[in-house]
Amino acid sequence: MEKAPLMPTRVFVLVLMPILAVTLVPYYAFSVGFSAFDWSMGVLFAVITLHSISAGYHRLWSHKAYHAHFAVRLFYAIWGGCTIQNTILNWASDHRNHHKFVDDRDRDPYSASRGFWFSHMGWMIRDHKGGPDDFSNVKDLVRDPIVMWQHKYYIELVLVTNIALPLLIGYLFSTALGVFLLAGLLRLVVIHHFTFFINSLAHIWGSQPYSDGNSSRDNLILAVLTFGEGYHNYHHSFQGDYRNGIRWWHYDPTKWVLTVFSWIGLTSRLKRASQLQVEKARLEMQYKRALRQAEHLQEAARWCHHVEERYAQFLVALEEWATFKQEWYQSKKNELLATLERAELKQRYAELKKNVKFQRQEWHLLTAQLAAV
Ligand SMILES: [Zn+2]
Ligand SMILES: [Zn+2]
Repeated sequence: MEKAPLMPTRVFVLVLMPILAVTLVPYYAFSVGFSAFDWSMGVLFAVITLHSISAGYHRLWSHKAYHAHFAVRLFYAIWGGCTIQNTILNWASDHRNHHKFVDDRDRDPYSASRGFWFSHMGWMIRDHKGGPDDFSNVKDLVRDPIVMWQHKYYIELVLVTNIALPLLIGYLFSTALGVFLLAGLLRLVVIHHFTFFINSLAHIWGSQPYSDGNSSRDNLILAVLTFGEGYHNYHHSFQGDYRNGIRWWHYDPTKWVLTVFSWIGLTSRLKRASQLQVEKARLEMQYKRALRQAEHLQEAARWCHHVEERYAQFLVALEEWATFKQEWYQSKKNELLATLERAELKQRYAELKKNVKFQRQEWHLLTAQLAAV
């Protein structure tokens, strides 16, 4: 089969720049030396640009997981552009196709089923799509003036933020080349590969607590490298959620920043999947795995029946609790409710919550038994 043609600008950015980075940076380090200021600028540029891709390109524009103030959107548009990962419009369009057709060899632009290299970088270096860009899946973004402004002035933005600005900062406060090499060149290459890992490694390496219907994985190491994007199995199951790591301790700095921003009015309408949806997805995966294990045991029919029964009971407990939780929250707002009625509701809610806890314990006990048999 004939290969798609190479795209020269992308070959320069994705192949030549890493070569320049791994040769020029060590050469400069040994011959001239970097100052602490040069390094701190490198880190600062890395943090700002990585966060802008995660919070802006990904969660805001591709998934519309929250609303953001004009200033925040402008900031993410400028610094997301600085990562040289194409314009918001192109990035979001590809990404929406990735979610819609995940793992499809032809329609997922960076399909993991075509191997590590293709999903990591190969898809960008050659013109696999052919023909003009199709923005039919990002019509909402075409109406966003900041997105269109960034699309129009993308090249200028890339040159100013990656070259002119580091050179100027370096010239004013340290050495022009020192800051440029770390905050411009090295930072760009490192950020590229960290982000690309989400398309490649996060579809190969890690756990699948929410779904095995596609190749996406949760991976803490990748979450650390990408400010939270590594909880990719969760993300593919609940793409509209502004969080990727849902527990408060999950390493998802993007989520923390967006939450803090919401307290001061910079972001709003942060979307979350309901607790019931999340718990159900996780339980269903555990159920599938438990059944698979049970099928291989002696007295398989008895074990399978046991698993099915426990699963059904847990599911009912979860649903009852979640439905009542809504009622309970509504009743809290109702000031006319008698004290006695309120106390009864509170007690019922506590009982249902306790039942969920009990069912969860029983379920874990059963899955532990299955693993031990
Ligand atoms: Zn993915
Ligand atoms: Zn996504």
